[in-house]
Amino acid sequence: MRPTTTVPETSGHPDELIEAAIAVNQAPTLREAFQVLAELGLRVLGADRLGVSLWEDGLEHVAAAGDEGLSIPGDERIAKALETGEPDVDNHSDPGSAIATVLIVPLVTESTRAVFHASWRTLLTDDEAARATELLQSLSRLSSLAERSPRERERTRLDSVLDGVADGVIVADGLTVTVNAAARAMLALPPDIAYQTSLFNPRTLEGEPFDLVADTVPGTSVIESGESGRFRIRATALDGRELVLDGSVSPVSGGAVIVFRDVTYEHAREVLNERTLYALFNSLPIPLTVGAAGTREFLSANQAFLDLTGFERDEIVGVRPPFPWWDPEEDGTRGFEPGSVVHRVYRRKDGRPLPVEVSSHGIPGDDGEVVLLLAMITDLTEKRRLDQQLVQSGKLAAIGELAAGVAHEINNPLFAILGLTEFLLKESEPESRQRQRLELIQQTGLEIKEIVRALLDFARENADERHVVPLEDVVHSTIDLVRRTNAHKGIELVDVYDDSGAHIQGSPNQLKQIFLNLIANARQAMPNGGTVRVDVRREGDHVLASVSDDGPGIAPDLLDRIFEPFFTTKRLTGGTGLGLSVSLGIAEAHGGSLTATSEVEHGATFTLRLPVAVEELETA
Ligand code: ADP
Repeated sequence: MRPTTTVPETSGHPDELIEAAIAVNQAPTLREAFQVLAELGLRVLGADRLGVSLWEDGLEHVAAAGDEGLSIPGDERIAKALETGEPDVDNHSDPGSAIATVLIVPLVTESTRAVFHASWRTLLTDDEAARATELLQSLSRLSSLAERSPRERERTRLDSVLDGVADGVIVADGLTVTVNAAARAMLALPPDIAYQTSLFNPRTLEGEPFDLVADTVPGTSVIESGESGRFRIRATALDGRELVLDGSVSPVSGGAVIVFRDVTYEHAREVLNERTLYALFNSLPIPLTVGAAGTREFLSANQAFLDLTGFERDEIVGVRPPFPWWDPEEDGTRGFEPGSVVHRVYRRKDGRPLPVEVSSHGIPGDDGEVVLLLAMITDLTEKRRLDQQLVQSGKLAAIGELAAGVAHEINNPLFAILGLTEFLLKESEPESRQRQRLELIQQTGLEIKEIVRALLDFARENADERHVVPLEDVVHSTIDLVRRTNAHKGIELVDVYDDSGAHIQGSPNQLKQIFLNLIANARQAMPNGGTVRVDVRREGDHVLASVSDDGPGIAPDLLDRIFEPFFTTKRLTGGTGLGLSVSLGIAEAHGGSLTATSEVEHGATFTLRLPVAVEELETA
């Protein structure tokens, strides 16, 4: 005989259902709602046991009512029902077992995967089983009310608030991930992204905040991260756009809140600005340095500065005063005041002096205080040499003018002397003593006339007037001047020409100055006398004029310093150290060069090398 049925005829009393609905709706969590439903179900269905299991990471039995002694259905059956969404009735159980009938009803909604299962100690007829299934289904559907529980409603309200925020917000609380509308738009995420936990993996919400961001936002690489969870990351939106996001992450219990903005364009602009600025800084021909205003730490220098001083970038970045390019004798603190312009002498890495002008500019920070000092360095070596050359040329011009005046003054009385001598000579007895003396006067007078002519020649020309002349002539007239003014006192002066007569284009006066300097140096090098040999010869497209002496020569370590302005070993005897630097300047201004070779104890040779005049090359 079949056991009596226990399933009521109606699908539960309406009052009871309404009451249940209210209770379910008010339950603070889904689990508590399930508990209410389990107890109600037990009564309404007349079952011996009613349970609810929830499938999340695995199966969990979350609510139960009724006979504790009845076991719950096997996991496989529950899994199958969840998979198919179909109820499962087994009312033909083994008569020997405690349970006669088991009913499984799955509930699969957007947010919930649950199973309601009722058990009876007695067998149900097929009709009863069908009615019980129907009843359990409507009961289970009630649980959807719980999804609108106060907490859920709170959440919905929060979601709509978050959707109104312009920044992207991702809230991960360990169970669910909420992504606001702005974040979805930025990352091109589908509307139901909140449940795509493979993209937003709540498990990674532990550990370093940036790992968290990196694991939470797709395609992320961290550009930079700062204090209190600030970050700048690269991310790939689901539609393939490459983004740069800037924001912060703050841990909250069980998860984190990530707030960010799309700064892709700003970032690109910043990078561009930064790179452009750096490229500009580094490629400017003006030597520039940047230092910290407070600590005076040296922060950066451009290539022009490195080239000028000979230091490598990593040798000087980070150094503090005294800087390695300061002259230890100098007061290093000058030039640090913003707006100041000071003249100083730096030392290159190889020890050579470097006259410079340093002008400092203050760069203010956000608060208006000067935080950085930008210094512009001007190399004054060339300027000083040009200044000196100008002074020398000026002096030369002044001497020229003076000479012209003096020559005129001399010429007139000389004219009278020579005229009168001529007259007296005609009147004198041939072979007489008187005639011999008059001839001597005449000869000396003519010599004076020659000197005057040479001086006038010298004066007639502007210091920098250019002519096409044989270099030989320039040398020749310089030697002539030296001889006539006896500037070669104590030495033997030998001049040798190769007869090529090669022309150069230039200012004979300035070139004369080179030879006068070289001959004067040679003479000063040989206080006890010696020979100075001046040699002019053509070599291909150049004319060379060298001045050699057999004095003490120049020590190798001094050889490349003698052309520096102000370098002199004759400080005590009034040397200026300008002769050679001015001469080099003139040579270079003529497109030529001036070099020195020397063997210690075997004299020195200075060679001026000038290009043959174009006119001559063309006619050749
Ligand atoms: P100054 O003659 O005023 O010292 P210069 O520029 O003409 O300046 O020369 C620089 C230095 O070069 C001299 O002080 C000297 O040491 C060296 N020098 C120049 N010419 C000779 C030379 N012919 N023999 C030896 N040393 C020389």
